[in-house]
Amino acid sequence: MDYSPSETDSTQLRYTGVGVSPGRVIAPLIPMAPPVAAPPEGEALTGDPESAVERLSEAATSVKTELKERAERARSEAAAEVLKATALMAGDKALIKNAAKLVRNHSLSPERALWDAASGYADQMRAMGGYMAERAADIEDVRARIVAELRGMPAPGVPQRTEPFVLAAEDLAPADTAVLDPRTVVALVTSSGGPQSHTAILARNLGLPAVVAATGVTDIESGTTVFVDGAAGSIVSHPRTEQEQAVAAWHRVSEQLASFDGHGALADGTEVPLLANVGTADDARAAAAAGAQGVGLLRTEFCFLGRDTEPTVEEQTESYVEIFQAFGSAKIVVRTLDAGADKPLPFLTDTTEPNPALGVRGYRTDWTTPGVLERQLRAIAAAAQQTEANVWVMAPMISTAGESAHFAELVHAAGLAVSGVMVETPAAAITAEQILDRVDFVSLGTNDLTQYTMAADRMLGSLAELNSPWQPAVLRMIERTAAGARAASSESGVHKNVGVCGEAAADPALAVVLVGLGVDTLSMSPRSLAAVAAVLARVDLERARSVAHTALHATSAHEAREAVRAQLPVLEELGL
Ligand code: PEP
Ligand code: MG
Repeated sequence: MDYSPSETDSTQLRYTGVGVSPGRVIAPLIPMAPPVAAPPEGEALTGDPESAVERLSEAATSVKTELKERAERARSEAAAEVLKATALMAGDKALIKNAAKLVRNHSLSPERALWDAASGYADQMRAMGGYMAERAADIEDVRARIVAELRGMPAPGVPQRTEPFVLAAEDLAPADTAVLDPRTVVALVTSSGGPQSHTAILARNLGLPAVVAATGVTDIESGTTVFVDGAAGSIVSHPRTEQEQAVAAWHRVSEQLASFDGHGALADGTEVPLLANVGTADDARAAAAAGAQGVGLLRTEFCFLGRDTEPTVEEQTESYVEIFQAFGSAKIVVRTLDAGADKPLPFLTDTTEPNPALGVRGYRTDWTTPGVLERQLRAIAAAAQQTEANVWVMAPMISTAGESAHFAELVHAAGLAVSGVMVETPAAAITAEQILDRVDFVSLGTNDLTQYTMAADRMLGSLAELNSPWQPAVLRMIERTAAGARAASSESGVHKNVGVCGEAAADPALAVVLVGLGVDTLSMSPRSLAAVAAVLARVDLERARSVAHTALHATSAHEAREAVRAQLPVLEELGL
């Protein structure tokens, strides 16, 4: 793939990356403000100390006011809480008093004085550990904002604007995503990040067009008008009539893609239930409203994140009940805690592990901290009893048939009927038949299956090409899993369901390939349901199988994707 910008004519520049969320827009591009550098150590005061102290306190007040205003406009309660807490820190009198002392007594510049005073607080908080230590990063955020204000520079992070714009960044961190306002940010483009990065997941959740791994986009001058095509993975500066027409065409088809009627099926009537990935009760209600036919992945770690201690069985039950209730009697696939690697939990995971993605994560935490899993299963069983939901339970990060058998025992001992495991490791894919001997279903976690098959960290933009579920090696893992499930089904006389709940299911072209490989159900962020359903409805099983055959025999991810897209003209027709 060509990652360098190319001139389309004398004034237009085209940047190519990986399209991760469809949509076409034209808007000015604004880069994420760079991090604020520390003022030089011991930077001396120039001028009068009293006017420096006054500037300092004015800067802090203006940061506080801005944060409070943003809290009022926040799109979620959680984002509002983060912003309010940060505003309180910016208005902390003791912080300004300490900084003022450093200006008056040590003749430090107001920037350096504030930096030192805030750093002192952050260090103290870190030393306290637990919740307080987590707040240290917030103090550092306030520190950067006040220093930027004193310097007359843009605040770090996502730019705040009232007009629509395309946000360009190296990659987005979860903290940036909490404060991103989709009313003004109309597309995301990043120079780094892969299809499984936070940027990609966020874009799909919000329904924003997005292109990742587009080298050079952060160098585009701020304010330049650009055209973004989130399906083709391209960004073109100074758009012309051709791009304006492409945007207008997208508006026409996107109306067709705005809603899902709640029934996933191929053109020949083959049912392909389309489910949703959720983490919270709010997500579950939104997914039900979007027509999802159930939940294919409930990431229960969201009920635990940010906690120093294990939630009680009662607390967990309450959270699960609220989520289950959103779906009446539909199927809910609950994944037990997937802690570790990029989701560390203080009471379960060891942060000193040298290689956490290959360490004690997911189901394996039951070996080092027994009891947590059993208590979680008890809570899931209690919630299932209190609701109508058809509850299925699965374990993450399974590698052997022995682990699968042990998990099934625990699930049944808790009084739950349907057990399954995720296929996220090549070991699980290759031994799917044996793994399915004791459990009722498998769900392919293609995000991790891709990173482990390709030995490529899913968070690294520089490995985006390797880290693609279109890689023929990954598709062969999926094919192998489906074949194992067919063998286990005929052996037992009971159909063993194969689902996909990784991001691959949300790509309409790949969804066809997955069905052709033998996948029964697809689970994705609710925003992707309508597009996936629209494409599946135009393809029959025979065609899906032939498309899957093409993809399996390609020699690269790029070739697989291009060959499949060429065989599915409906994608171009719908602008996907
Ligand atoms: C996956 O690995 O594909 C998956 C669905 O799990 P997570 O993204 O939560 O690791
Ligand atoms: Mg996973």
